[in-house]
Amino acid sequence: MKKGLLIVLSGPSGVGKGTIYSHLLKIMPDLTVSVSATTRSPRAGEKDGVQYYFLDREEFIRKRANGEFLEWAETVGNFYGTPKAPVIEKLENGKDVLLEIDVKGAHQIKAAYPDCVTIFVLPPSEEELKKRLVGRGTETEAQVKARLELAKSELSESVLFDYRIVNDDLDRAVREVADIINKIKGERKC
Ligand code: 5GP
Repeated sequence: MKKGLLIVLSGPSGVGKGTIYSHLLKIMPDLTVSVSATTRSPRAGEKDGVQYYFLDREEFIRKRANGEFLEWAETVGNFYGTPKAPVIEKLENGKDVLLEIDVKGAHQIKAAYPDCVTIFVLPPSEEELKKRLVGRGTETEAQVKARLELAKSELSESVLFDYRIVNDDLDRAVREVADIINKIKGERKC
């Protein structure tokens, strides 16, 4: 059986990766997404096992030591990681899996799985990214500042990705991601 395609959607916090992938699922219903683990606290409306598996630091560190993560990163004070077993199982069963992760995690995945496709989502401008981060109102002023600082260094790494798209128009960005996935799938032999 043909293995599934591993797709990494990355880019700075607030760039709209989550919105892109939720719209992508509507036009690519066979795509599966990985639910990450994190030590950050749930935001209003977030449920354990849906947006994330919410773990305390001890539990995260234990799982990390057990090799239960495909990749992990510490970003703006919290740990984030991709649970390994469900992703491997889906890929083995021929299902395509999308990871929505930060830039550090994306590099780890590319190093371990060179056949994966990495897509970097760019904001239309740094000013627009700031507006979105402030506008969603889920972070304190200090957290927004930390995320923006990190975004600057992440943006400089976009050249290391297989593809770059600009999220200035949601429909177009979603279509571009879908086109990339379909193109790679069409070219793959195994
Ligand atoms: P947030 O706290 O806004 O949900 O996520 C913060 C950042 O962590 C985002 O850039 C998001 O893509 C990233 N992230 C979410 N899950 C993972 C993961 O499993 N691994 C890594 N490396 N980053 C993740």
